Amino acid sequence: MKFRTKLIAGFATILVLLVVFSAIVLKMFFSMNEAMHGIVDENYSKVKLANVVRSDINLINTETNEQLITLQTNKLQESVAKINDTKKRLNDNLNKLERMFEEKSEARMLVQEFHQLHDDFVQSTDESLRMLQIGKKDEAVQWHREKTEPIRVALFEDIKKFNALQEHEMDTALNDSTDMYGLVIRLIIAVIVFILICTSLVAIWVYRSVTGSLSHIITVMKQASIADHSERLPRIEVRKRDEMASIGRAYNVMAEALEEQAAFQRQTNSRLQEQNWKKSKVAEITAMYQGVQTLTGLAKIFIKAVAPLIGASYGVFYNRHDGEDGIPRLVKGGTYAANNETIGLDGFQFGQGLAGQCAEENKTIILSEPPSDYIQIASGLGTASPAQIVITPVAFENQVVAVIEVASFQPFTQTHLQLLEELTELLGITIKSVAGQMQVKRLLSESQIITEELQTQSEEMQLQQEELKTLNEQLRDQIEASEKKSAELEKIKAVLEEKNEHIMLASGYKTEFLTNMSHELRTPLNSLLILSQMLASNKEGNLSAKQIEYSQTIYSSGKDLLGLINEVLDLSKIEAGKLELVSDWVKLHHFVDFARRQYEPVANDKGLTFEVSIDEGIIDLMIYTDEQRLQQIMQNLLSNAFKFTEHGGIMLEISLVAKEEAIGVPLDFVGDVVLAIAVSDTGIGIPQEKQALIFEAFRQADGTTSRKYGGTGLGLSICQKIAQLLGGSIRIESKEGAGSTFTLYIPVHKVRGDLLHLSIPEAAAALEARSPDAAGESSSISLEGKKVLLVDDDLRNIYALTTVLEAQGVEVTFAENGQEGIQRLYEDSDINLVIMDIMMPKMDGYEAIREIRKLPPFENLPIIALTAKAMKYDREKCLEAGANDYISKPILVDQLLSLIRVWLYR
Ligand code: ADP
Repeated sequence: MKFRTKLIAGFATILVLLVVFSAIVLKMFFSMNEAMHGIVDENYSKVKLANVVRSDINLINTETNEQLITLQTNKLQESVAKINDTKKRLNDNLNKLERMFEEKSEARMLVQEFHQLHDDFVQSTDESLRMLQIGKKDEAVQWHREKTEPIRVALFEDIKKFNALQEHEMDTALNDSTDMYGLVIRLIIAVIVFILICTSLVAIWVYRSVTGSLSHIITVMKQASIADHSERLPRIEVRKRDEMASIGRAYNVMAEALEEQAAFQRQTNSRLQEQNWKKSKVAEITAMYQGVQTLTGLAKIFIKAVAPLIGASYGVFYNRHDGEDGIPRLVKGGTYAANNETIGLDGFQFGQGLAGQCAEENKTIILSEPPSDYIQIASGLGTASPAQIVITPVAFENQVVAVIEVASFQPFTQTHLQLLEELTELLGITIKSVAGQMQVKRLLSESQIITEELQTQSEEMQLQQEELKTLNEQLRDQIEASEKKSAELEKIKAVLEEKNEHIMLASGYKTEFLTNMSHELRTPLNSLLILSQMLASNKEGNLSAKQIEYSQTIYSSGKDLLGLINEVLDLSKIEAGKLELVSDWVKLHHFVDFARRQYEPVANDKGLTFEVSIDEGIIDLMIYTDEQRLQQIMQNLLSNAFKFTEHGGIMLEISLVAKEEAIGVPLDFVGDVVLAIAVSDTGIGIPQEKQALIFEAFRQADGTTSRKYGGTGLGLSICQKIAQLLGGSIRIESKEGAGSTFTLYIPVHKVRGDLLHLSIPEAAAALEARSPDAAGESSSISLEGKKVLLVDDDLRNIYALTTVLEAQGVEVTFAENGQEGIQRLYEDSDINLVIMDIMMPKMDGYEAIREIRKLPPFENLPIIALTAKAMKYDREKCLEAGANDYISKPILVDQLLSLIRVWLYR
């Protein structure tokens, strides 16, 4: 039974006994109490009732006596009624008292006797009262005294007896109760004693069963604690199935674990001991060969120390020896034999025999129980074959440097083999270092010889050094001389740079001069051209044919002059590097239109054919280039072609070619496609040797050309330079007398597909705005009655323009500078448009335009700017200042008029 169950059973028994005992004692107390109450209550009520009966009899007697003594007839009736009431109550009480007792009990019989006497007493009383009522008072008194009074005395005697009986009963009951109490007390004592005995027994039982098991466990445990760890630990015998059994089982498991732990500890200890032994031996042996200087010495020390240590009776140490032929051999270095005899071969090659094999494979070979004729180990007492032979290699960085062979009568233990392995591992390094030392020694002796030789050589070198010193000094002198020269050169360079700067400055001045010059020339030329043109048109019809011809000559000479000025200006700008390109998207179509428009009339005039060809596929292609400059080149090439062709025709061919086709043309761009614009003619041609020359400035193929055909020899050189600026070049192919082809190659940024689509509308819009057709359409619109303010400091210009504008019915007012112009605007609010020259003294055109724009009434007044220098950004600058449009000098009348129309009738 489990310890817990025992405890529960013991204590439960005690509890049950306590409950039973308490119940019995309680029960007894209750019944005792009840009995007491019964006795007291019952007897008390009986005695009380008997006393009431007695007092009622007394009352009847007293009442009767009173009547007998003091006969008051008026009160007699009242007394009789009172006596009757009392009698009735008395009778009831007597009946009640009678019922209180058991049948035939002594008390009942006494009550019955009592009842009888009472009846007699009542009858007797009634008789005396009747006598009284009939007036027989004396007889009544006598009757009462003789008859009634004895009955009453007997009655009172009976009541006394009854009370005595009751008292006796009560005493008896009290005695019984006291007895009962004593019994209960005794019973309680007995039960307490019994429970104490039971509790003690249970406690002893539990204690004994617990301490019994515990003492067994403690004994076993004590034995275990003093037991040797190498022995088996005592176990607790588990017989019962209680908590102590669980402790026993747990202890048994622990004992087992302890045994295992102890076994493991023993193993570890022995391993550690072995390792310590190995380490100390390794250290001992390593210390032994400190200071050894030869390999044979090392081999001897090693084998003599190691063989007895590992229990070998026989051992040979072979050193590696690399022969002069490069073949390694193993040579006997040291031996150990228990009997001191010579053993083992002197040497062998790698791979030869078992030891050679071991060296070849760099692997240990263990030979257990070799044949008896393999080797015999002898001692003073006899010979025997070994039980085991071990052949092990010694390696350094995987190269075998020695082989050790040992033999023993007993098989080698694992520890011995491990020691041998550890020693051989370390030995490799030692062998290598000894070999190194030997090598160092040898080298040292060699180096001593070399040092001596060197000493001799160094003496020779010292001599040479002195010679070198002398040479060095000579060289230094030369260097100093050359440094002086280079300083002079620096000076020259500085002078040159200065000159260069002067030249640059001069070139800047030249360009500036040319630009200003061209402006100065253009302004008078402007009025000359306008007026001669008007003269030639002979609007008034009063000129003779000769006069008209003169005017036309003036006009064409003026135009030539203008061309020359433009060319000189271009050239100077290009040379000064100031010609800048203004690129935009342009349709190729546009160039075709331009050529046709310009040159078809010329071809007709000269009776030549003029053909323009362009691939259908590229007609809508847009290229990103400077349109004006490209047109300038085309114009030059076409003009030349028409100029130098008398018969046949001219052909313009626009195409896209692969980059490779433009051979010899230095194209400065990244891409594969090149635009080729070729102008071919059937004219006079250019001899081969002159073909390069014509691209130089002021150079012509023939000295007489200018006389016959006119020209300055500037055109082509300008074209070539512009072409180069555009990233391309011009190539010529010509045969004297057969015609020439000038081809302009420029790189193209392809804009097909989406990009092309996106660009077309924008480009088209821009093109249309500037196309002469648009101006043509509007040329019919009259300018009659319009008022124009002309602001220009050059009166010739004012005169020329006024003449042109007035011919159109326009009213012209003028001002000579910006300030005056603004003044005029204030004075005359009807002015519809302003033509503003840019280059003016005091307030120039830009400033004047800006001022005008600041004034609210003139915010939207159309202003056309006049510029003389056809410089880049002129247009942007004018528009930025607030002008609506611009026109450059020399002014083309039609262009000006169409611009005015555009801005007046927006
Ligand atoms: P210009 O034509 O004003 O003399 P260019 O530089 O344009 O100057 O031409 C230089 C020269 O090259 C010309 O004078 C002419 O001798 C020669 N040349 C140019 N184009 C042609 C051509 N299409 N046919 C024959 N010769 C030409």
